[in-house]
Amino acid sequence: MAPPTDDDPDRRRVFEFAGEQPGPTLVITAGIHGNEPAGLHAIGRVHDRLIADGVEVRGTIVGFAGNRQALARGVRYVERDLNRGWEVERIDRLLADRRGHAAEDLEQSELALVLIDEEHRARGPLLLVDLHTTSAASQPFVCMADTLRNRPLAFAMGLPVVLGLEEVIDGSMLGWLVDRGHSGIAVEGGQHDAAEAVEVHEAVVWVALHAAGCIVGPPHVMLAQAQRRLRAAAADLPRVLEIRHRHVVGPFDAFVMASGFASFVPVRRGQVLAHDRTGPIHCSEDALLLMPRYQPQGEDGFFLAREVRGAWLTLSAWLRSVGADRLLPLIPGVRRDIEAREQLVVDRHWPWRLTVDLMHLFGYRRVRPGESGAVYSRRRPDARDPSSR
Ligand SMILES: [Zn+2]
Repeated sequence: MAPPTDDDPDRRRVFEFAGEQPGPTLVITAGIHGNEPAGLHAIGRVHDRLIADGVEVRGTIVGFAGNRQALARGVRYVERDLNRGWEVERIDRLLADRRGHAAEDLEQSELALVLIDEEHRARGPLLLVDLHTTSAASQPFVCMADTLRNRPLAFAMGLPVVLGLEEVIDGSMLGWLVDRGHSGIAVEGGQHDAAEAVEVHEAVVWVALHAAGCIVGPPHVMLAQAQRRLRAAAADLPRVLEIRHRHVVGPFDAFVMASGFASFVPVRRGQVLAHDRTGPIHCSEDALLLMPRYQPQGEDGFFLAREVRGAWLTLSAWLRSVGADRLLPLIPGVRRDIEAREQLVVDRHWPWRLTVDLMHLFGYRRVRPGESGAVYSRRRPDARDPSSR
């Protein structure tokens, strides 16, 4: 077990434990948004406890601070959202020419480099836990890209798991890492400055350490307490939800969320949720509201979600495990994109609702209009998952 790698308060690598036994690499990132320091406090607490108890570690546990310039100023970002723009071509460009980078370009190229470095050093599976908080009050929840390999880590938390958020947001850091073939989740730990958000994130890190298999020997005494903490936070919320709608805010929209909302509040079709320069914004369907925006920066106004039944999860896992999605292109009007393996093109005449439900079963959660139909894409499935072959 190694102590922190340096004592610079501005350091990006906030801690690292490297065990003698080979094992997984668990990467914890916090403060990707600079007004969300709770995750960093939580990492610090776990670090101190691991040291104090002399805990023996398997593999590597490493913690990284995200947007250090924005963290120093206490703002979400300086020039642009650091949790966007993680498209492969863009990262290649940033890494190819690192001269003159300012603000988030600098943060992103440094982060990409340390993450790629961890990938190269890893002697086992690499897992990412990305810690966030929200501007509105919220019970904590987990966001997971809908690939089977993410499920064990996500469901270990005992918090509500939201599917599809990673797919509707373009270019998130987590999405980039999952597309490189790793497992990862993001955790929204509660409201930015709430003391409970630090406690929730601390509990999340303890559960992640055990779920990833990083602790040698019997479970650490903190595990049971952490599990209790997260179970209590989850209360009676649905176990799994999926994103139905994302309200995108443009820079000149003058978007203002109506007051009094919080995450997981039930909302009704037709209800006024916000206003912008075009007038009131009405709710498009009965749903649960997620992450209403009560801070000035960013392009996510709010999200609508609905519960996913356990039977659907079981069915989708079974269909993917037997590789049934290889049959999808045999359906008239459905074909695989020749350019991109994880994309399917569906003819326009297909009933919209049916298509969306079918595509979701196989993890195709992103949709955009194409020349000859709707183009559905998904995160890269697991290499051991027959549907990836
Ligand atoms: Zn965030």
